[in-house]
Amino acid sequence: MAAVTTSVASMDRSFLEHNLSDTMSCLRQCSNTQELKQIHARMLKTGLMQDSSAVSKFLSFCLFKNPPCFLPYAQMVFDSLHHPDTFLWNLMIRGFSSSNEPERSILLYRQMLCRSAPLNVYTFPFLLKACSNESAFGETKQIHAQIIKFGYAGDVYATNSMINAYAVTGNVQFAHRLFDRSPLRDIVSWNSMIKGYAKVGKMGIALKFFQNMPEKNVISWTTLISGYVQAGMNKEALDLFRGMQNADVEPDHVSLANVISACAQLGALEQGKWIHAYVSKRSIRLDSVLGCVLIDMYAKCGEMEEALSVFRKMKKDSVQAWTAVISGFACNGNGRAALSQFMEMQNMGIEPNEITFTAVLTACSYNGLVGEGKLLFRSMERSYNLKPTIEHYGCMVDLLGRAGRIDEAKELIENMPLKPNAVIWGALLKACQIHKNVELGERIGEILMRMDPHHGGRYVHTANLYAMARKWDRAVETRRRMKDQGALKVPGRSTISVDGTVHVFFAGDRSHPEIEGIHSKWKAIRAKLGEKGYMAEAEDMRIDLLEEEREVEMAMEQHSERLAIAYGMMKSKAGSTLRIVKNLRVCKDCHTVTKLISKIYQRDIVMRDRIRFHHFSDGKCSCGDYW
Ligand code: ZN
Ligand code: ZN
Repeated sequence: MAAVTTSVASMDRSFLEHNLSDTMSCLRQCSNTQELKQIHARMLKTGLMQDSSAVSKFLSFCLFKNPPCFLPYAQMVFDSLHHPDTFLWNLMIRGFSSSNEPERSILLYRQMLCRSAPLNVYTFPFLLKACSNESAFGETKQIHAQIIKFGYAGDVYATNSMINAYAVTGNVQFAHRLFDRSPLRDIVSWNSMIKGYAKVGKMGIALKFFQNMPEKNVISWTTLISGYVQAGMNKEALDLFRGMQNADVEPDHVSLANVISACAQLGALEQGKWIHAYVSKRSIRLDSVLGCVLIDMYAKCGEMEEALSVFRKMKKDSVQAWTAVISGFACNGNGRAALSQFMEMQNMGIEPNEITFTAVLTACSYNGLVGEGKLLFRSMERSYNLKPTIEHYGCMVDLLGRAGRIDEAKELIENMPLKPNAVIWGALLKACQIHKNVELGERIGEILMRMDPHHGGRYVHTANLYAMARKWDRAVETRRRMKDQGALKVPGRSTISVDGTVHVFFAGDRSHPEIEGIHSKWKAIRAKLGEKGYMAEAEDMRIDLLEEEREVEMAMEQHSERLAIAYGMMKSKAGSTLRIVKNLRVCKDCHTVTKLISKIYQRDIVMRDRIRFHHFSDGKCSCGDYW
């Protein structure tokens, strides 16, 4: 080694520099490991590997090349160095911190300590970033201790990195304590606090931080918007996006994707279209993420034509985009189109993944395509080496059960390699309800109520099954059991978007400022339905009229979707389409009522419930009453 060093020392500096610039231009064009090896060999031969600035340039190239295909090579070269300096150690830690193996950064740091390599203030930020990406809370705490020990506790960078690491690893209280003590907070530390509280769903506190921060950047807005979307507070996300517009902050891809998905959840087609237009107008690149959320948004608003037109403009190489289209057809009840899209995708050489199969099996289930569904289910393992998950079994039970093949569904559950969960049993119970198999339904109801004693829906479905079989005593008893257990029903909630504002209604809700008008509108609609011979479903009503639940059942006439329909009829032009999103499955009675309204008032009504779409038009529904 000594001999080489001497020869380097005596080498002409300009020769080295010439070589370096040559090597760098080779590196910039290097695209595979073979070429990289050649460059490396040349650097060894010309002595460039003895020059620390050349080594750092070479390593930087390997570490930060996108896609990250040279990371192992960087590690190998680094391991061959005798005394890498602090700069190189930090470089390696940084390189691995955002890779898919962030734990390597932590290992490098450990090596660094073992070899007594000196560290400096730049060592910690990326090390902590690695901890965040690895969700390594324990390591974060240890590194915190070392920061104090090595005397960097007063450093703003290190402190802000600590705040971020604690917030992101789900320990927002630790982050908060540090934040309170930190003498120099910057925008990054404020953003970290918003992120930390949003991550644990404490949106109220996240909002307080947002409101109190001295200045905000696009990340502050985006973080809060994403938090709202994740917490299911989609209306708040949209309102905040409007605030962002008013504040003249240019949204980035992440915030756009988040608000589009908020629109999808709310069924807010107008706002969704507006954001789509905004994306086009600003020539914002339609990458796979934005494309998929747009497809999903249009599909969830029942606009498959628009969804397809977005899809046509995208590169067809992402399985996510194909899956979004297939699942759009599925929830809009067009099983055949979903299947043909699935075939086309395979013809293009794109391999379906597990989510694609859930989508295509769901499509089969909603359309009673039993043979196709069974073939696809079998092909998962045979042709694609994908093990069916509990979701796929759920789809199959649903498919067989709805189609009346209850014994087959039961057999599938008995022979499945996974432990059936409540979703699987729930699907079978639903099938028993549709096909009036009370005996089996009773047994499954028992299983479900034992599995989930605090889930109100389990009791309600079982009680409905009894009511259907006219076993009133059992029905009443089941409802009483629900009450004794303190099990709660998820409150029904419907949203409708009118003139760019989203209105939310709960069952029996009186909080809307125009509630009096809405009630009298509903009374008028109800009277008109009565004239046309409508009577509420006796079975549903009977169970709903148990004395002790009168106040709940008063709400029957005020199921949230009815309030939304009444409001929509009040506020929109005659003949225009109403778009409603409901958080639960639409009940049989509301389904009948909505069909009638679509005929009497000549209104198309698009209603998305928890499961799927109903396009009501001229007295019929697109689901063909098969839901
Ligand atoms: Zn209803
Ligand atoms: Zn329907």
